[in-house]
Amino acid sequence: ERQALGRLRRLPARLSSGEVLTLQANLEIPAELPMIAQSGAAGIGLLRSEFLFMNAETLPDEARQEALYRPLIEAMSGDPVTIRVVDWGSEKNSDALTQAGIGAGSDVNPALGLRGIRLLLRHRALLETQFAAILRAATAGPVRVLLPMVSSPAELHKAREIYARVGRRLRRRGVDIPDPLPPLGIMIETPAAALMADVLAQEAEFLAIGTNDLTMYTLAADRAATDVAGLYDPLHPAVLRLVRLAADAGLRQRRPVSLCGEMASDPLAVPLLVGLGVRSFSMHASAVPRVKRAVRAAAMDDCRRMACRALEAADGPEVSAMLMDYAATLR
Ligand code: PEP
Ligand code: MG
Repeated sequence: ERQALGRLRRLPARLSSGEVLTLQANLEIPAELPMIAQSGAAGIGLLRSEFLFMNAETLPDEARQEALYRPLIEAMSGDPVTIRVVDWGSEKNSDALTQAGIGAGSDVNPALGLRGIRLLLRHRALLETQFAAILRAATAGPVRVLLPMVSSPAELHKAREIYARVGRRLRRRGVDIPDPLPPLGIMIETPAAALMADVLAQEAEFLAIGTNDLTMYTLAADRAATDVAGLYDPLHPAVLRLVRLAADAGLRQRRPVSLCGEMASDPLAVPLLVGLGVRSFSMHASAVPRVKRAVRAAAMDDCRRMACRALEAADGPEVSAMLMDYAATLR
C-alpha cells in the first residue's frame, strides 16, 4: 500500500469527474519540511508561525524572522506558501511573549479572550515586525499572508492598513519587496467570520477555513476538553452550514477559499467538503497521499449530493454514516 500511495505523488488531485483540486501541507515546525517535499503537496497552505515564539526567551526580531521564513519559501521552489501571523492566546502560550508582557493574561476564558488578531492589534509592534519580515522574505517565492481569529471586518481593515503602511515604509527605505504586496487573507474560524464571509470577502484577498476552531466556537465545545470531546464534531451540520457560507462567499466574490483544519486530513470528509464548494485543502503532510486517493475516486455529482444531504442532516453521526457508505461504494 505504501508503494501505491508513493506513486500518487506525481498524479494530480483530480476527481474522477475531471475537476482539479489543490492539496497543500500545513507546517507547524521547520523540521516537517522534508516530509512536505516528499508528500506531493502543492505548497504550504498554512504555515503556523507560532514555532517562532515557542521555546524562545526573547521575541525574534525582523532579521531573525526573515532568516527563518526565507529557506522555507525557497524549499517550496515556486509553490505558494501561506504564512499565518502568530495566533497567540487560548491554549497556545509562550515564554518570550509572556516576558514581553504580551498575552491573554488571566482571562476567564482564554479561547474567548485576547488571541489571534485581537492580540496583535493590541500589540501592534509585534504585528508590524512580523509583516515586515514576511514582506522581506517574500522576494524568495510566492507568499500569502493570513490573519488568525478574525471576527469582524474592522479587524481586517485595521490589519490591512498596518500591512500597507509597513510595505510603504520598507519601500521608502529602499528594501526590495514584492509589488503589489502579497495577498492578505483571513482565517474563517469563528462563527461570526463565517456568517460575515460575504462582507469580509470584499476586503480579504483569500479565505482559509479553520474548522478546528470553527467547530469549537460553533458547538461551544472546547477542542482540548476531554469531557466534551463527544460533542466536538466537525461533521456537525451546524459547522458544515458555516463552511458552506464561507465557500459561497468566496465563490461569489471570486476569492480563493481553502480549508486547513484537521478535517482536511480526513479522506472521508474531503469529498463532502468539495460538494460544499471547497476546492483547496491544507493538511498534515502525511495525509496528502490518502486524501489524494480519495479525491481521485470521487465524482462531483456524488460530492454535491452528499453535501445537500449533510446540510439537512440532524447530527454529525448521521453525516459520518453517509460518508462511510459512500466510501464503501468506491471500493
Ligand atoms: C483551525 O482552527 O482550524 C486552524 C487551522 O488553526 P489552528 O489549529 O492553528 O488553531
Ligand atoms: Mg485556529
